[in-house]
Amino acid sequence: MPDLELLARAPAQQNGHAVVKKQAEWSVPISLLAAPPPAGMRATLARITGTQPSTSLPVINLGLGDPTLYPLHPPPPAATEALARAAEEGRNGYLFGSGMPEAREAVAAYHKRWDGVEYDVEDIVLTHGVSHALDMVLSVLVPPGSDSSVLVPRPGFGLYSALLGTLGTEIRYYDCVEQRGWEVDLEDMEAMVDVGTRCIILTNPSNPCGSNYAPSFLHAVIALAERHRLPIIADEIYGHMTFSAPFVPLASLSTSVPVLTLSGLSKRFLLPGRRFGWVALHDPAGRAGAVRAGLHTWANRFFGPSSVDQHALPAILLDTPDSWFADVVKKVQRNAEITYDVVIATPGLSCVRPEGALYVFVKIDMTRFPAFGGDDTAWCAALYKEEAVFLMPGALFGTPGYVRIVIGVPQDLMREVGARVARFCARYYQV
Ligand SMILES: *Cc1c(COP(=O)(O)O)cnc(C)c1O
Repeated sequence: MPDLELLARAPAQQNGHAVVKKQAEWSVPISLLAAPPPAGMRATLARITGTQPSTSLPVINLGLGDPTLYPLHPPPPAATEALARAAEEGRNGYLFGSGMPEAREAVAAYHKRWDGVEYDVEDIVLTHGVSHALDMVLSVLVPPGSDSSVLVPRPGFGLYSALLGTLGTEIRYYDCVEQRGWEVDLEDMEAMVDVGTRCIILTNPSNPCGSNYAPSFLHAVIALAERHRLPIIADEIYGHMTFSAPFVPLASLSTSVPVLTLSGLSKRFLLPGRRFGWVALHDPAGRAGAVRAGLHTWANRFFGPSSVDQHALPAILLDTPDSWFADVVKKVQRNAEITYDVVIATPGLSCVRPEGALYVFVKIDMTRFPAFGGDDTAWCAALYKEEAVFLMPGALFGTPGYVRIVIGVPQDLMREVGARVARFCARYYQV
């Protein structure tokens, strides 16, 4: 048996370099789980913002769906007061991983009030935002590195793929169809299911689509899940942020299929920096007892979200008046109308009427903008360079040929974005 240590040193000795120096050149290996994500996303963003704007116009950064960046509306006064009070009262002790009962009861009362769904306190687990909730539910439902698969919307929120990518499961994208108001061809979706499929992720209202699904469609998704014995992860972080039709929570329609509803404070409450969310498990036929136990096990790996926020949660969720939510949605809806009007009046752009969330997802007829060679990222890069508006291209949501406009901003800024986009399109449009 050769001495492995000596073998390893041999090349350094052979070519005369100092062995000491060579030995110092080592680095700590890391887990595959922490390997850098595929370069796609970073490279795309770098292509857009890599060149400084050539205009003196102030930059408008609509990359993130953060309604506080250009404040849409002040946060709920009940939240500001309750958070300050909890901090002053020194609510700084450890709370168990799933969250303190009073805070989880407040989540249950909130969903009963707004969604008409009853939850037991054991059905609620508090998380550091919906991002953490997604990480938790996927970790509980999907065995790592197995022959499993998960159905994921396209276009959709990039975090789904990022989290599933580290789990090593197969991501099966189902297409949301613009002409159907971003609903899904359920025959296509059904064809993707097999014995290894673990769950369906459904985003409603949708980032980036700005859609709000009809009850008939939601019923059909539940029926599909029932046929194949699948739970549904309902990402409803934009729940109740809808315009022409009321939002229908998926769990309110399910009489048998387990639904894991994810929500939190980031969007409807305009508090993304608090990093506060939750999982609510609706299990009307008692099929997900192991999932409930698994969620609590996972939640107790480390203690749950900030104790100050947990103490403030009942006031945030239950003392914020309906009129406050209505005022916020009214502003978003006005921005949706402003943006929709610009889009349909601008040759080369089109979209279906936005119905909810904080976005308008706009189709770019790339054949009318030949300067960009069919590349939506090049289109966005030129928009950034010439008009200093940063928008996310459809490529980042899995659907090239689109661009996402964030509408959670003040109205005058929304008009300015519309004017710059229209001007840019007029400059490049070819008949
Ligand atoms: C913004 C957003 C979230 C919220 O994530 P947090 O971690 O709670 O900030 C979740 N899902 C979608 C689709 C989103 O757009």
